[in-house]
Amino acid sequence: MKDRPVEKCAVFGVYGKNFEAARIAYFGLFALQHRGQESSGIATSDGKTLSVHKSEGLVTQVYNEASLNSLKGAFAIGHNRYSTSGGSTPRHVQPIVSKDKSLALAHNGNLPQTTKLEQFLLSKKVSIEGLNDSELIHAIIHYFLKQGCSLEDALKLSYPRFSGAFCLVILTKDKLAAVRDSFGIRPLSLGKLNGGYVIASETCAFDIIGAKFLRDVKPGEMVVIDKKGLSSYQLEEGNQKLDIFEIVYFARPDSLLLGKKVNEMRRMLGINLAKQHPVKADVVIPVPDSAIPAALGFSQQSGIPFDHGLIKNRYIHRTFIRPDQHQREMGVQMKLNPLPEVIKDKRVVVIDDSIVRGTTQVKIVKLIRSAGAKEVHVRISSPPNKYPDFYGIDTPNQKDLIASRMSVEGIRKHIGADSLQYLSYKGMIDATGLPEELFCTACFSGIYPIDIGTHKQKINFQPQFQLI
Ligand code: AMP
Repeated sequence: MKDRPVEKCAVFGVYGKNFEAARIAYFGLFALQHRGQESSGIATSDGKTLSVHKSEGLVTQVYNEASLNSLKGAFAIGHNRYSTSGGSTPRHVQPIVSKDKSLALAHNGNLPQTTKLEQFLLSKKVSIEGLNDSELIHAIIHYFLKQGCSLEDALKLSYPRFSGAFCLVILTKDKLAAVRDSFGIRPLSLGKLNGGYVIASETCAFDIIGAKFLRDVKPGEMVVIDKKGLSSYQLEEGNQKLDIFEIVYFARPDSLLLGKKVNEMRRMLGINLAKQHPVKADVVIPVPDSAIPAALGFSQQSGIPFDHGLIKNRYIHRTFIRPDQHQREMGVQMKLNPLPEVIKDKRVVVIDDSIVRGTTQVKIVKLIRSAGAKEVHVRISSPPNKYPDFYGIDTPNQKDLIASRMSVEGIRKHIGADSLQYLSYKGMIDATGLPEELFCTACFSGIYPIDIGTHKQKINFQPQFQLI
């Protein structure tokens, strides 16, 4: 399990009588592009056999009319992949399809511990050579299917051996299933479309295909969809711990998380930030696109006018995804351009959602100064990110998280801002309007709801700051 990619991806599944499922999956994946830009894949079933098309690239690059036409059937699952440093190889492109074309699977999340799974497979003489966590999940389900189990039974038997964060969509020739870990770390929702059903990482995928949001797939739940309709099985009691970073940064603002619009929660993050850390300034500018709702909230609360001072080239992928430091630095330059007419001679408050390595903020402050700002005040709409994620977000080692090695004042100096302030932990929770217990806050608090095994030894747990 060394060097395997950690993934923060999108999954999608659809079934309905006479659906051209591949086409629906294509649009669903297109709406979920923000969750992964490295590769994309769709597997379909026409009731007899599975077909798959997958490759590296954006959704619009991976498929064309011919490839979509070759994906026959009313069942489909899909995946967009987001990989990290060192982990990008074409081999890991999903959905994973068994050689005998009986099982396809796509996974969003990460299993930080796979020992139980590996031991089980080895005891059954299944080769695990070079398999990543998603491939191990696929291998065990396939093993049970080969033993003659139904898909439901194969999943019930496999599930107790998974430890970590997972949203799975699974396809056999006549069934579509979705499974979510008992903490519901990654989002997964269920929708209805013309008598059929849709599963997606985020509800924004329902809007683009005209599906109606029904509910979230519950933590610990398995949903199975086939010709007879939908069946639900609670495999384990759920204890909802949605990764709060989904709200802070990752999800699309038009998605619903825990039944609430992400855009509104982000606006509240900005409102709370302005209440906690006011500053005398002339203009509030967001780091596009993820910080726009928080910047609007900051402007609304502070009365300082909002403007777009940084223009983003939308056709460059998230800089964070670029594999090495040099490319990351280049990425920021390629991606953002300042508008001097908005910035020149102004005291600027720049709002961003998070600082991870700190690379982006250094560039941003420089850019804003180069456009003639009189003062640059940085406000971050989440608390310092001190702990790495092991549940499927691409975060660096703890030593590369700038807030784990530097004080806020140290970071301020490093990025060259006149002032720097972060939203407090309490301010972040309050902004969601939901109880703290519903969230995994590991990247801010160091409290990991699911055992992270040996990773724990590599983490420096700093004295807990007052969380609430
Ligand atoms: P940096 O501090 O340079 O590592 O990057 C922080 C910036 O990347 C922030 O502006 C966020 O909008 C964005 N970001 C934060 N977390 C992630 C992530 N897991 N994947 C991609 N981008 C991220």
